[in-house]
This record gives sequence, structure tokens and C-alpha cells, in this order.
Amino acid sequence: MTNESQTSIKNSPIVLAKDVYKTYSSGGATVHALRGISLTVHRGEMVAIMGPSGCGKTTLLNTLSGLDSIDSGTITIDKEIINKMSDRTKTDYRARHMGFVFQFFNLLPVLSAVENVELPLLLTGVPTGKARQRAIESLQTVGLKEWANHRPKELSGGQQQRTTIARALVNEPTIVWADEPTGNLDSAAANEMMALIETLNEKNGQTFVIVTHNTSIGERTHRVINMRDGEIDNEVIHRPFQPITIPQNE
Ligand code: ADP
Ligand code: MG
Repeated sequence: MTNESQTSIKNSPIVLAKDVYKTYSSGGATVHALRGISLTVHRGEMVAIMGPSGCGKTTLLNTLSGLDSIDSGTITIDKEIINKMSDRTKTDYRARHMGFVFQFFNLLPVLSAVENVELPLLLTGVPTGKARQRAIESLQTVGLKEWANHRPKELSGGQQQRTTIARALVNEPTIVWADEPTGNLDSAAANEMMALIETLNEKNGQTFVIVTHNTSIGERTHRVINMRDGEIDNEVIHRPFQPITIPQNE
């Protein structure tokens, strides 16, 4: 880091997908899960992916983030072609640059909240003291600092999901992928979760791609991408996206 702090608009696309195809074969049958998807997500944008069950939302999220491979097409994340990376490089790239939030939280039950949150940092070799400090800060961001030493089962569903947001943010990701993040929450907790995501998006310029069934969640994003049968059916802009001006050190 330098002492000078320049300010620049970084509005290049963070996600660029071109003609992405993905099929699954199971029991002799072929499922065309993605049939020529092209899309762009900008830095600092909050996008929802919606559509009926089975239309390919999870497959899209998992292929864009490099969790799953594709048959053809190109996926570029922050100028890096992710589908050309080796599995090892992809795993490392995800750990360093991406955050994930899932419907069923995926917290390790034997670990406390802070241990769950710091785990991704420890896995990428961040020293323990530093990892703990950043995990506490991340829990503070989501309003759970006092719950740091509690295990997931001692937390409410909403608190558990906020812990996963803290975990997703702890590596300061360029993008956070969320698959039905409110799918397992009551409407009050879902509202709170979305308010937290909105704040993180507005204040920190974090990019979110959110798969959801919930139209009221979709309406709170900049743009909804509606899918049908493995394709993009249409897009609806809810609020014009303003490129975010972020201070850039180095
Ligand atoms: P959504 O998240 O919109 O409900 P998915 O992306 O999970 O949809 O699934 C899209 C299609 O791909 C569905 O027909 C589903 O059954 C199929 N599919 C998803 N994952 C697999 C898999 N691992 N093996 C075989 N078929 C799969
Ligand atoms: Mg799904």
C-alpha cells in the first residue's frame, strides 16, 4: 500500500460470460442445464438470478464462480478466464477473491462463529492472529461480534446466515455469490439479510450475484436476470446501476 490514495472509477465488468453451455449426464439421460448463456455483471452491481425450479440458476452460479466446469463458452472474472484455469488454480482463486453464501448456511457445527469465519483465511495461509482479527471485524460488520464464541446451533437462522455473510466477506472478495440466501429464513430474517446485503453493496461497493425465488428480494437489486430452461429469458432493471467510485491504493 502506498500513502497516496488515488480515486478512480473501476467499472469494468467483473463477470463476463459468453455462450456458456453445460450439460449433465445422469442415468443415461442428458440434461441441458445451460444453453448458451451470455451475461455481464459490473463491479459493484447487485444482480438477482430468478426463474422456476430446475431452470439452471444454481448451475449458472456454480459455473460462473468456477465451482463447476462448463462444456463450452468463456467465463471471465475480473479479466481472468476462469474456465481455462486448472482445478487447483481455480480453487485458490476462489479462496482469495470470492465469497459464497448458501441456502443451508454450510457452517461447521463444531466450530464457533469466529472459527467458522476465519477458516477460509487459515486455508489460504493467513497467520492465525491476523485471521482472528479479520474474522472478528467481519463479524462486527454483520452485527455479531458478541456472538463470536457461540456455535451455530446457539444462533438463530438469521444469525447463522449473517455468520456466513461474515465468512463470505472475510477475504475481502471482489464478488459474493449467494444461492437462495434467504430460502431458509422467515420473512423478517430474510428482510434483515437483504438489508445487510444492500448496505454492504452500497457502502463497500461489494458485487453480489444472488439466486432467489423471492420477488421482493429481486426487486431490491439493481437488475433481475430471469432464466427459463437453461437460457436467459429476459432482464428487468429495478434501479439504474451507478458505477461505484472506490479509493484505489497501490
Ligand atoms: P435451479 O437451481 O434453477 O433449480 P439447477 O441448476 O439446480 O436448477 O438444475 C438445472 C437442471 O440441471 C435440472 O434439470 C437439474 O435436475 C439438473 N442438474 C443439476 N445438477 C445436476 C447434476 N449434478 N447431475 C445431473 N443433473 C443435474
Ligand atoms: Mg438451485
